Amino acid sequence: MERASASLWRKIRSRYNLVGNECQNCNTPYFPQRVVCRKCGRNSKMVEKQFSGNGEIYSFTTVRVPPDTFKDEAPYFIGVIRLEEGPMVEGHVIDNGIAPKIGTKVRMQFRKMYVDGQEGLIYYSFKFEPL
Ligand SMILES: [Zn+2]
Repeated sequence: MERASASLWRKIRSRYNLVGNECQNCNTPYFPQRVVCRKCGRNSKMVEKQFSGNGEIYSFTTVRVPPDTFKDEAPYFIGVIRLEEGPMVEGHVIDNGIAPKIGTKVRMQFRKMYVDGQEGLIYYSFKFEPL
């Protein structure tokens, strides 16, 4: 497993809280954050934006042959979620007994992702729970 890098730690606040940003010039939201708006370039006026965590499944797949990190969880779902504010986010879809479908409403949940090797470092991130 990769060791925690400085860039990973810098992104923790954003990833743990689903904080992206938005261009005040054209109101385009981004997650993860961008320094410059794709539409406005140097006229960008980026400000932080807290996303609600609500969205719907845009696409998903069932992972049956996982990487070692998630070998105890297979089979599990990975989805592309369209947040209600617009950005697309990839994440695990929680198996709560509701079969995921395209268009299923979901809500972000903060969950443990995996434990890293012998050091036992626990990584957390968001997952999406079907509603
Ligand atoms: Zn813009």
